[in-house]
Amino acid sequence: MCLLATLVAGAGAASAQTSAQCYWDDLECRTVEGGLAAASPGQIDTVADAITGTRARFETHFGRPAPQVAVVEGTGRLDAQRGQLETDGYPAALPWITRAQKEDLKTAAIRKQVVDQLPPGTPDAVINGAVQQALSKISKVSGESEDEIAAAKASEASALNHEIGHVLFMEAYWPDRESSGGKHYGGPAPDWFDETAALLMEDDSMQQGRWDRLLDTYAEPDGFIPLDQLFSMQHPLLAAVQAYRGKDGATGSQTGAIVITGEEADRLLRAADIPDPELFYRQGLGLARYMMETSGNPAIFGAIAEGLASGETMESWLAADGAAAGLPGTVEALEAAFLDWLSTNAADRP
Ligand SMILES: [Zn+2]
Repeated sequence: MCLLATLVAGAGAASAQTSAQCYWDDLECRTVEGGLAAASPGQIDTVADAITGTRARFETHFGRPAPQVAVVEGTGRLDAQRGQLETDGYPAALPWITRAQKEDLKTAAIRKQVVDQLPPGTPDAVINGAVQQALSKISKVSGESEDEIAAAKASEASALNHEIGHVLFMEAYWPDRESSGGKHYGGPAPDWFDETAALLMEDDSMQQGRWDRLLDTYAEPDGFIPLDQLFSMQHPLLAAVQAYRGKDGATGSQTGAIVITGEEADRLLRAADIPDPELFYRQGLGLARYMMETSGNPAIFGAIAEGLASGETMESWLAADGAAAGLPGTVEALEAAFLDWLSTNAADRP
């Protein structure tokens, strides 16, 4: 399995103007409405479409214009230009590591592990053979069908939407987030809210997969996180990712993106705070769906985000604004109504 965890470093306040400057000789740059894509020729369409699509989703679910965003392909290219991009009108910026680059990083990490385990002076041919053998165990090196390649491309694009969603959300509600002390996974919002904001940016099929799995599992033991816990817990991967950072063999960049693959990813997931870390994601998405449907407002997350950014908690927001939005007035009542709604949806499934 492959896990990309991104903790995004801070950027500063917004400014208004846009320019199409391209600061990277080896990348193509394209200005789209509200964004700058900087990517290799084979990726530029994907990146430009992701910016446009994610900004549209953001506006649907937050009811306000999305901040301007730059997405720069590859590791190590963005950091030196962050200040310049901000001046150019892109306060939000994301480094994007493609699937192929992740494969290269994985190969490099495996090569390092192999070399460490073999005696000094082992011939390259032996090392290469061992690397190939290890790679073949953890991924298909050939024989991907066209459908599989299309599916992988779609999920890569959806993962890019997700990561763009994190930076748009932070920039929109916490533009001065440097002062927050960085104790949260992605930003100053409660971790579940920050993560769910990004999940809402994913494409329909990725969201549908999470939704189906939530309906399959919410009634199982450990299949539901009590909402008072969900609203206050740290991201279940935060401690594990922090422990992993800087560890031998980890591949990373100064911007905080780390790539973890194979056995290392399994080990990291086992070190997470809850038995099934993906539950944190699918339950957040399910709760967002419940709130959108019950309130009849696809931008209900925007209304709550305004409250959280001005210092409300979920409890105080529900008490003050829940009834007007058509939602229960306490966390306890919200949980009961959400569980009812989940069981109705599970029963109504075809
Ligand atoms: Zn995320």
